[in-house]
Amino acid sequence: MKKKTFVTKEQLEAIAEQFPTPFHLYDEKGIRANAQAVKDAFSWNKGFKEYFAVKATPNPFLIQILHEYGCGCDCSSLAELVLSDACNVRGEDIMFSSNDTPAEEFVKAKELGAIINLDDFTHIAFLEESIGEIPKTISLRYNPGGVYEISNGIMDNPGDSKYGMTKAQLFKGYQILREKGAKRFGLHSFLVSNTVTNDYYPTLARTLFQLVVELKEQTGIEIGFINLSGGVGIAYKPEEQANDIAVIGEGVHQAFNEILVPAGLSDVAIYTEMGRFMMGPYGCLVTRALHEKHIYKEYIGVDACAANLMRPAMYGAYHHITVMGKENKPCDHMYDIVGALCENNDKFAIDRMLPKIDKGDLLVIHDTGAHGFAMGYNYNGRLWSSEILLQEDGTPKLIRRAQTVADYYSTFDCFDEFKGKLQ
Ligand SMILES: *Cc1c(COP(=O)(O)O)cnc(C)c1O
Repeated sequence: MKKKTFVTKEQLEAIAEQFPTPFHLYDEKGIRANAQAVKDAFSWNKGFKEYFAVKATPNPFLIQILHEYGCGCDCSSLAELVLSDACNVRGEDIMFSSNDTPAEEFVKAKELGAIINLDDFTHIAFLEESIGEIPKTISLRYNPGGVYEISNGIMDNPGDSKYGMTKAQLFKGYQILREKGAKRFGLHSFLVSNTVTNDYYPTLARTLFQLVVELKEQTGIEIGFINLSGGVGIAYKPEEQANDIAVIGEGVHQAFNEILVPAGLSDVAIYTEMGRFMMGPYGCLVTRALHEKHIYKEYIGVDACAANLMRPAMYGAYHHITVMGKENKPCDHMYDIVGALCENNDKFAIDRMLPKIDKGDLLVIHDTGAHGFAMGYNYNGRLWSSEILLQEDGTPKLIRRAQTVADYYSTFDCFDEFKGKLQ
């Protein structure tokens, strides 16, 4: 399918006059329609809740939009808990799904009344030590080991992943938690990232539903909620078929009816912790062509760099690029689209066929709404860009200002000899 931008060239030129490039732009209309579609897809389940994975797009303005659709926050660090609290998302609207967790983060999670999801068997004792009790509601993360296969082949290798606990640890864990006074139990598992198939959640759901039935038979413990976590992907490439959340929700529903209902577990709530699917397609990185360079290859240098979007450099990830105003021109030029870092992997695209690019052209790098800005870093003294929301009425709203040199050096403020000099 041809990938389209959610803004026109004229709109973008007007926004760029007000806010200099580069910036990440978010599509409010798209975010809202998708959040509603997720809600509808799981409306068959009374307790359903999506806990948005804050790490994907940690912006309070965007979290608040999702909260209007009933979304909570999935947090995995102290800073994310603080952000959730600032967005008035508290109590059991927070899922604290962390790993290798420091004690003070469990303390903060308890203070906010978050649901704590333990990554490891040993964390039961560590949690009790850290917060002085076992919460009434508690969840455990499962890792089935081995390789994980669904209908179209092997998807990933949980046996190699650091997350979660074994089945034996899980069953023992719930029994210990029950002895220690826990009343409401959750099961969590995250096996594969960025799945572009409608089968992932339904397949995972079947695995977890069967496990929950077995747990009930063996121990009498009834699970109250099952958290399918993240991993629902998006179509980064034009040739990929986007996931259909309605089909996914129905697939989980069928598994629920076949496995949980006959086992007398029809009150189980389904939770999700999607990040990429909630935000990915509704953000883009907007950058301008600064230089063209002709050596052994053709290069276009833009004013964004890997510090603004790390996925291509880190994973070789594909991000579609549209040259604004040239959507219908033939893609008859091969370019590497590069940023300014002194690192040769600072390339948004390699050997990409695109229309002829002229200096000053605006380029839209698609699907940066999740794990985009959030993975930004400051290597080479490159600063974070601003974030802008394209509101439903078509007007832009600044939702994070760009970082300044003074921000970047602010951790030297406490040293008299550099005070006020680094800005
Ligand atoms: C990263 C993460 C998510 C979100 O994953 P997506 O692939 O963005 O949906 C959810 N839960 C946990 C625990 C995570 O670490």
